[in-house]
Amino acid sequence: IKNLQKKYTKDGPLVVNNMNLSIEKGEFIVFLGPSGCGKTTTIRMISGLEDISGGEILIDGEDVIGKKPKDRGVSMIFQSYAIWPHMTVFDNIAYPLKLQKVPKDEIKKRVTAAAEATDIVGLLNRYPAQMSGGQRQRVAVSRAIVVKPKIFLMDEPLSNLDAKLRVSMRTELKNIHIQQNSTSIFVTHDQSEAMSLADRIVVMYKGRIEQIGTPMEVYQDSATRFVAEFIGTPP
Ligand code: ATP
Repeated sequence: IKNLQKKYTKDGPLVVNNMNLSIEKGEFIVFLGPSGCGKTTTIRMISGLEDISGGEILIDGEDVIGKKPKDRGVSMIFQSYAIWPHMTVFDNIAYPLKLQKVPKDEIKKRVTAAAEATDIVGLLNRYPAQMSGGQRQRVAVSRAIVVKPKIFLMDEPLSNLDAKLRVSMRTELKNIHIQQNSTSIFVTHDQSEAMSLADRIVVMYKGRIEQIGTPMEVYQDSATRFVAEFIGTPP
């Protein structure tokens, strides 16, 4: 990401202001910051769901600006799950593969493998209305990983879950990241989530990166007063 900028209106503020960031293959990156700091806008620009106002985004060295989301090799999951209510779990997960015209028996294999990774193989014939929030989010995760994306983008995926489930699904998401050999970007305003998940945390404030570092670095060696206060570093 080079000099990335975003304004929603011509004379409006820069909600992402000159962002520079390089992410290595296999990393689990967390964008952490308070509400309105530009986290969601940034990952939507990476996914191609939002236009950029300036700068560059390269994936595997290739400029992706102007490419549609489906052609960027990224998958995204949202707080709201965004799964189809009129389709079974199987059909929800199979959907992106059908669009890619993957042969039927391969679809079956890959859907089953993705459902195994999220532990919902027993639910493949159900409809979303017959499932809990945690199970629906597993469907969304399965649908995202079934296409074997280069980058797995997650926008506050655990926010709708109760506290206990949030913590257990956190571990599961990290395990899926490792097992799938993914490169992941996870957005949250929850410090403990960031500390437990991230290889590196990108702390954002008012559209800017305040610090990029391992959880230990941002905690023990905060670059700015904002980071120290937001992470809760003892004085
Ligand atoms: P949250 O944690 O609350 O989701 P965030 O860090 O993800 O916040 P963004 O959603 O990226 O923040 O928003 C960054 C800024 O851009 C905010 O000031 C927000 O009001 C503004 N913004 C977001 N979407 C739009 C839009 N569609 N039109 C105009 N302004 C927007």
